Amino acid sequence: MNFRRTIAVSLMILALAVAAAGRAEADLAACASQLKSWVISQGVDRDVAEIALGNVVPDGDPVKFSQSQPEFKTPIWDYLAFLVDDQRIADGRRVARHYDPLLRRIEATYGVDRFALLGIWGVETNYGADQGRFFIPHAYANLICAGRRTKFFRAELLAALQIVSQGDLRLADLWGSWAGAFGHTQFIPSTYQRTAVDFDGDGRRDLVRSIPDALASTANYLKKSNWRAGRPWGYEVKVPANYAGPSGRKQRAPIQSWAARGIRPVKGAHLSGDISAALLQPAGPKGPAFLVTGNFNAIFSYNFAESYALAISHLSDRIRGGGPFQTPWPTDDLGLSRAQRYDLQKLLNARGIDVGAPDGKVGAMTRAGIRQAEERLGMTVTGRAGTKIYRALGGRL
Ligand code: CA
Repeated sequence: MNFRRTIAVSLMILALAVAAAGRAEADLAACASQLKSWVISQGVDRDVAEIALGNVVPDGDPVKFSQSQPEFKTPIWDYLAFLVDDQRIADGRRVARHYDPLLRRIEATYGVDRFALLGIWGVETNYGADQGRFFIPHAYANLICAGRRTKFFRAELLAALQIVSQGDLRLADLWGSWAGAFGHTQFIPSTYQRTAVDFDGDGRRDLVRSIPDALASTANYLKKSNWRAGRPWGYEVKVPANYAGPSGRKQRAPIQSWAARGIRPVKGAHLSGDISAALLQPAGPKGPAFLVTGNFNAIFSYNFAESYALAISHLSDRIRGGGPFQTPWPTDDLGLSRAQRYDLQKLLNARGIDVGAPDGKVGAMTRAGIRQAEERLGMTVTGRAGTKIYRALGGRL
C-alpha cells in the first residue's frame, strides 16, 4: 500500500471513529432527554431534572465497572489486610472517642452495637473520607442508556432525584460510587428512601454531610435487618482436626450443637441461650474459623459479600480493643496494608517499573508492574500485591 493511500485510509478510519463518538453522544443526549421527561412525569421537580440530566456526558467507566470480571479471585486475606489495617484501626479508635456521646445515643435508640457502625463506616468510606467520584445522575444515565440492568438503575435514578426534590439533599451532594452508593456509609438511593433518618433534628435526612444522620440511618438499616441487641456478630473458634460436620453461613444450628461437635471459642465461653449460629471457614478448613450469629447476616445484607462482612465485623472488634485472629491464614504470601501497598508502588517505580504516582490502590497498572517485577526476579508470576514480592523488592514488614 502506498504512503498516500495509507494516510487516506487512516483518515477515513479516524473520521468514522469521530462520527461514531458523535453518534454515541447524540444517542446518549436523546436517551437522557427521555429519562428527564420520565422522572418529571414521576413527580421529580422540573428544575432538578433539567440540571441532573440536561448535560450528560458519555462516561464509559460505570458501564465498564458493571461488566468487570475480577482478573483473579482475590484471597480473603488480601481483603482483610487492606480493610483492617493498623491505620484504619487507629483512625476508628480516634473517631470512636470523638463521637462517643453520639454513638452511645444511637446505640441506645436502635439497640445496635456502636462498633458495628464504626466498622461499616471505616470499610465503606474510610470514615467519610472516600465517598465516591461519580455524579450519580450521570452514572445512572450512562448505565441505563447502555442497557445495563435498566429497570434497577431507572428506579435508583428516580429515587436519587426524589431525595433532592424532597429537600433532603442538594443535587451537588449526589456524588458516589459508579453504582450510585453514596454518603458516609454508602446507601443506594432506594435504601436511602426506605431507611434514612434525621437524627440531628434539622428536618432533613442528610447522609452526606451529617454524621449523626448517616450513622443513625446505618443503625436503622441493621435494626431492620434483624440485628439483635446485646449479641455479638460472632467470634473466632477452633475446629477439631478431621471435623466433617456442616459448614457455611446458611447452615445454621443452635449454639449448643456446635459446642457438642467440639468447636470451641479461641477465647472465653460460647454464647448461651436460644441462639442459632453458623460455622464460617472463609479460607477452608485450614484457616481461621468463626461462629456467626444473625447479626453477621445483618452486616452481610449490607453488601452481600462474606469477605466484606467479615472485614466489617473484625474491624469493629479491633476498634473496640480486640486483637487479630489467632489462627493464621493458610498462605505463605499474606496481603498488604494500604501503607505497604503504597510502599510497594514506590519500590516498583524506583526499579524503573512505572506504575504511576503511588496511591496505595492496586489497579491494573500496579498489577502489570508486579507481574513485570516477578518475571525479572524469576518468581512465580501472579500480579498480586502480596508480602512475597514486597519483601523481594526490599519492603519491610
Ligand atoms: Ca438531619
